[in-house]
Amino acid sequence: MADAFDVIVVGVGSMGAAACHELSRRGARVLGLEQGSLPNPNASFAGATRAIRLSYAEHPDYVPLLRGAYERWETLGEECGRRLLQLTGALYLGPPEGELVSGARRSAEEHNLAHSLHDHADLAINWPQFQLPENFVGLHETRAGYLLSEQAVAAYIEGALRSGADLRGHQAVQNWSADESGVTVKTENAEFHAGHLVITAGAWTGQVLSDLGVPLKITRQVLGWVWPPAPEDFTADKFPVWVVDGNDGAGVHYGFPITPDGSGGVGLKLALHWPSTETNADTVERGALAGDEDEIRDALRRFIPTGDGPLLSQRVCLYTNSPDGHFIVDRHPEHSRVSLACGFSGHGFKFASIMGEVLADLATAGKTDWPIGFLGLSRFDS
Ligand SMILES: Cc1cc2nc3c(=O)[nH]c(=O)nc-3n(C[C@H](O)[C@H](O)[C@H](O)COP(=O)(O)OP(=O)(O)OC[C@H]3O[C@@H](n4cnc5c(N)ncnc54)[C@H](O)[C@@H]3O)c2cc1C
Repeated sequence: MADAFDVIVVGVGSMGAAACHELSRRGARVLGLEQGSLPNPNASFAGATRAIRLSYAEHPDYVPLLRGAYERWETLGEECGRRLLQLTGALYLGPPEGELVSGARRSAEEHNLAHSLHDHADLAINWPQFQLPENFVGLHETRAGYLLSEQAVAAYIEGALRSGADLRGHQAVQNWSADESGVTVKTENAEFHAGHLVITAGAWTGQVLSDLGVPLKITRQVLGWVWPPAPEDFTADKFPVWVVDGNDGAGVHYGFPITPDGSGGVGLKLALHWPSTETNADTVERGALAGDEDEIRDALRRFIPTGDGPLLSQRVCLYTNSPDGHFIVDRHPEHSRVSLACGFSGHGFKFASIMGEVLADLATAGKTDWPIGFLGLSRFDS
């Protein structure tokens, strides 16, 4: 029997929507199955914006992937007629010996990225919104900013549909199998066949890929929006994307400027990157819990007291953390017709545009020229 589809994508979220878009653009017959709505407000791109940066001390091979990702975000913006990538610059703040500032500096120097260094006095002149401990310095990266993540995923979904992809919401995949001739995917009411399967199930990956043998830790992350007493001080012309790590074990906070048209949510957005609480994707409390507001407000009180205004809204989102914090992007070790991308560990959205291409390469050619070797499953072999 001929395959009904060339490729089935399980999970049409950040990576899955980008893969569906790229595969259908290349002429593949694609079926995308999404358990929630399309787009799904409970997926990990929710909350309007995601930070994007080129300086990546975490591994040098992220930088070439990011250069590709930046280009493709621009292209997607041109296709959908909206600027999805906003370059506001990003400011990394902390003690000079801390990994945040020293790592950003190492990466900026190694990859020749436009940046400037600022001592404490200089920070106070350029960004008076912050009140920082005396020992803090800053690195400002020019080609960093934010992506309109919800709009970007919607653009991928619409683009894929217009290129002929068959995308279906409210279709939870219950199980799949693969052999030499193809793959079979089952939902509650239907069974589908294809030549290749791409699994991009985000925080639900453990359920779809139970045999992977790599523990993925799901954490509950709270995003908050406040209304500062002087909102005009927090627009992107004066206030960039920022990250602060006091290097004192108290955690890493980050935030965004107020967006001119409310596209980033109304107000000043900020969040705690870590520490966070382990949870489960199906049972997580998505409403407000005692302590959520304090978690957000802590950064305002300590570092941006001029922004400390009333809370407007908050949102819960999930990180899917791999054991080493690096993504997992590979072919399935036992099934050559199955590829997967998961474990984006709270920093993956900015890569979605290039991951769409990587996953399309793996599904159609079995390999990619992009440097993804460091993201392979074999690193967990002991
Ligand atoms: C609060 C927060 C802040 C973040 N900040 C940043 C940032 O500033 N910069 C950055 O680059 N990254 C950031 N990230 C990380 C980034 O957003 C995620 O890494 C990325 O969205 C993960 O994409 P994904 O495709 O793996 O998962 P998702 O986008 O969640 O997509 C997975 C999809 O699979 C679907 N699915 C799962 N199981 C099934 C099934 N059985 N059948 C059908 N469908 C299924 C889900 O419903 C979901 O829609 C942040 C994440 C969070 C939560």
